[in-house]
Amino acid sequence: MAVLLGAIADDSTGATDLANTLVKEGMRAVQTIGVPAQDIDLDDANAVVVALKSRTAPVKDAVDASRAALAWLRGLEPRQFFFKYCSTFDSTPAGNIGPVADALLTDLDADFTFLCPAFPDNGRVVRDGLLYVNGELLENSPMKDHPLTPMRDSRVVELMRVQTDRKVGLIKQATVSDGPAAIAAEVDALRRDGVAYGVIDTKSNADLRAIGAAAADHALVTGGSGVAMGLPRNFRDAGLLGDPTPATLPNVTGRAAVLAGSCSQATRRQIAVARKDWPHRKIDVHRIAAGDPVAADILDWAASQDESTPVLVYGSADPDEVAAIQAQYGVTEAGEMVEKVIGEVAAGLTAQGVRRIVVAGGETAGAVVSALGVEALRIGPEIDTGVPWTETLGTETLEGTPIALALKSGNFGGEDFFAKALEMHP
Ligand code: ADP
Repeated sequence: MAVLLGAIADDSTGATDLANTLVKEGMRAVQTIGVPAQDIDLDDANAVVVALKSRTAPVKDAVDASRAALAWLRGLEPRQFFFKYCSTFDSTPAGNIGPVADALLTDLDADFTFLCPAFPDNGRVVRDGLLYVNGELLENSPMKDHPLTPMRDSRVVELMRVQTDRKVGLIKQATVSDGPAAIAAEVDALRRDGVAYGVIDTKSNADLRAIGAAAADHALVTGGSGVAMGLPRNFRDAGLLGDPTPATLPNVTGRAAVLAGSCSQATRRQIAVARKDWPHRKIDVHRIAAGDPVAADILDWAASQDESTPVLVYGSADPDEVAAIQAQYGVTEAGEMVEKVIGEVAAGLTAQGVRRIVVAGGETAGAVVSALGVEALRIGPEIDTGVPWTETLGTETLEGTPIALALKSGNFGGEDFFAKALEMHP
């Protein structure tokens, strides 16, 4: 099967979110962890998403990594490319959305692309060029205090203008509401004016689908995961993609484990619920700092548990405890200590025969994927909004045995998420 869409995402959970959106629209999606070092089996995917860690990287690194991803994706000869960033347009005046989009347009020899951050299902809409988050202007939302990308302006045109030398324009809601033909006519007019970036008002999924239809012949589409919802239809209408078939669960059976590093409220609640039913161990950061064999102890304990029950291992603690630990060891150091142990536990558990792993926390998920040497993931069915089951591909480093992974960013999922995931894939 031919690859139809090649995508580059500026972070890992964003890549999964995009791949999940495409799967829900009936595509077969694979997410790679960076550009694969060698040829990998893409499992007949027709959408391939390269997950980068470029959102807050130095501009040059982000541009280089994105261009390398584009070059690799071009080898798969997709019909269209996608650049995925956050629906809150997370960036600084230096980038990286502008510089990366500029480089992609140049390399693709293209002169126009949409900028469509909107994700109405998550409360992100663009009205008169202003980005709103759950009814609040972006500049008044919690994103104003983000430690790395504080968003203090809600005008998407202005946010982009300082990041690029190319012209930025706005396509208004009245045009979007008139449908794909009206949007396409407006794009032609903007192009004639030399505009390269069309910020586009979006209030609903119907708008996203209309924008997707209008982008059918664009080499590059950029945005949050929302606008990707409208793209599979174009391939289907062109006879390139069959009718949607439901995504299948990972073809994996074996023991289960839940590994949590997120300290978010949602994850702490999920842990409290799961502790009632499953054997559990909390990671003691002071013991790690003292040089004790924390991972080995946990693995010894896990080996003696009943194989039919999932084991729960977590570092997660409430804000007071986390603050005290961070004050003692440093924020980054404390985070890395826990991530390292969780990575070692993940690797050790798979050696014990664990084959289904649910991970809570974005950074934590990155640590697990890297400890397991995962190169790529086939995206399966959705467990809870935005979180699919996935199956590892390219498993030489896992001794040829695929692992089923559910990677949940901290705040996602209902309070029974862990049980729900494992009941869905027993
Ligand atoms: P989220 O998706 O909620 O942001 P992440 O995994 O990205 O979750 O980030 C949580 C961070 O907190 C990780 O770096 C993790 O190692 C760290 N962490 C986990 N438990 C503790 C703890 N008890 N004290 C300090 N840091 C911790």
